[in-house]
Amino acid sequence: MKTQVAIIGGGPAGLLLGHLLRAAGIDCLIVERQSRTHVEGRIRAGVLETVTTDLLRQLGIDARLDSEGLVEAGFNLATDDQVIRIDIAKLTGRHVTVYGQTELTRDLIDAAPGRGLDIVFEAADVAIHGIDGDAPFVTWTKDGVAQRADCEYVAGCDGFHGPSRRAIGPGAEFERVYPFGWLGILSDVPPCHDELIYANTRDGFALASMRSKTRSRYYIQVPVDTPLADWPEERLWDELERRFAPLATRPVVRGPALEISIAPLRSYVFETMRRGRLFLAGDSAHIVPPTGAKGLNLAASDVAYLAEALIAATTRGDASGIDGYQARALSRIWKAERFSWYLTKLMHRFPEDGSFEHRMQVAEIDYVANSVAMQTAIAENYVGLPL
Ligand SMILES: Cc1cc2nc3c(=O)[nH]c(=O)nc-3n(C[C@H](O)[C@H](O)[C@H](O)COP(=O)(O)OP(=O)(O)OC[C@H]3O[C@@H](n4cnc5c(N)ncnc54)[C@H](O)[C@@H]3O)c2cc1C
Repeated sequence: MKTQVAIIGGGPAGLLLGHLLRAAGIDCLIVERQSRTHVEGRIRAGVLETVTTDLLRQLGIDARLDSEGLVEAGFNLATDDQVIRIDIAKLTGRHVTVYGQTELTRDLIDAAPGRGLDIVFEAADVAIHGIDGDAPFVTWTKDGVAQRADCEYVAGCDGFHGPSRRAIGPGAEFERVYPFGWLGILSDVPPCHDELIYANTRDGFALASMRSKTRSRYYIQVPVDTPLADWPEERLWDELERRFAPLATRPVVRGPALEISIAPLRSYVFETMRRGRLFLAGDSAHIVPPTGAKGLNLAASDVAYLAEALIAATTRGDASGIDGYQARALSRIWKAERFSWYLTKLMHRFPEDGSFEHRMQVAEIDYVANSVAMQTAIAENYVGLPL
């Protein structure tokens, strides 16, 4: 088959890019390794910046976002004995929206057939060819039958473990791996607070988050090699109850886990986001620790830049956008990396840190508590830097 842009990966980056290209009348095809059920069921991000919600609005895929998303005007940074509210609405004039990645993904997949966006699920052995020439193509196997799509450009939106970054070959790579992970639980119980609480407690980081008014998402920091078996649900609820009792407005409500897992934390950037006719976007090019809620939002801003560039190249033969894509995307990526790293450093207990470093954290949090300038800087990064 023939298409203008072949997109590898049907996560948030690939789906959003596909919709943005279709809205401009560009032919494209998404090739996704997993089944639709698997893609829609992945429990991951949940806090959307206005950059992301604006893209959904521009596409007209915002009905459920508007009716079910929770508009958040602030969030909280806490220690064992103080809660600092960062009033993002007052400090920036904007807000964030709590809307699960599962819901956003479902909306984008539901809207695809009506907009002529083809998605091939369960595509095995996806491979990228000919990116250094003028006639790239993508191959895969579906139900045991070999398939091929010839295209003008390939977008690598296949996450951290996908084949696109490998197809680029050696590149400029930067990484920081953290010595802890987040043990997370998702449960259909009302959250203990209306706005997220990021807490640096004496036993480590804890986060009280939510996906809706009836669905809570909690995390605590654990050593990176912790087996999940060490944390039966009741032990985790005990810990959450103890840590959030002095900080939250309501008690932690317990319920059966819809999901419980440990996610390692890393900061990672692969700066070589283009080779010939292949472009990387989203987690295929960068990872942030989830502390700043930036992963999904960065994927969205990458594809906003990439869509603009590909539309100019395919409709007007204007290559300036694709030539400038990497520099433009990286400028925003590094700022989001910095903010996610900063919040991670501020809010976690690092095993290698001594009492001096801990005093530095306490002093910094105290400074934030009493400085509108610091709160504004945190708020404008949290709500998302402009495109
Ligand atoms: C466990 C976990 C928890 C997270 N929690 C948060 C959070 O709380 N807040 C936050 O902001 N971010 C969070 N993130 C990050 C956020 O989910 C990602 O940044 C976001 O999903 C990036 O979207 P993406 O489309 O670039 O990549 P992905 O969502 O990874 O999508 C890539 C797609 O490519 C497909 N693919 C992979 N290999 C192939 C192949 N060979 N062929 C075809 N398709 C392929 C995958 O199946 C997938 O559908 C979390 C991530 C993880 C892993």
